[in-house]
Amino acid sequence: MGAPEPTRPVGWATGESAPDGDWLVRAVPGAAALKPYRCPGCDQLIPPGTAHVVAWPADAPPGVGPSERRHWHRSCWRSRAHRRPG
Ligand SMILES: [Zn+2]
Repeated sequence: MGAPEPTRPVGWATGESAPDGDWLVRAVPGAAALKPYRCPGCDQLIPPGTAHVVAWPADAPPGVGPSERRHWHRSCWRSRAHRRPG
């Protein structure tokens, strides 16, 4: 009922293949980074206002919860992709 909420194209992401599977990666501009996040690559906080990337498993269902999404420094994500498992 009422006016429908405008839907924003927030779902777009780039598919990436990594040694541990396929991921969807979305760039987050600094203006959209409103909270600090813990980067799993270097275990440091990504301060608000810092452009970074969000990655989540490509085989996750469309409604995957935000908790499944990991926020990475761009450089950490890139170096991770080149890191060999094990
Ligand atoms: Zn990092």
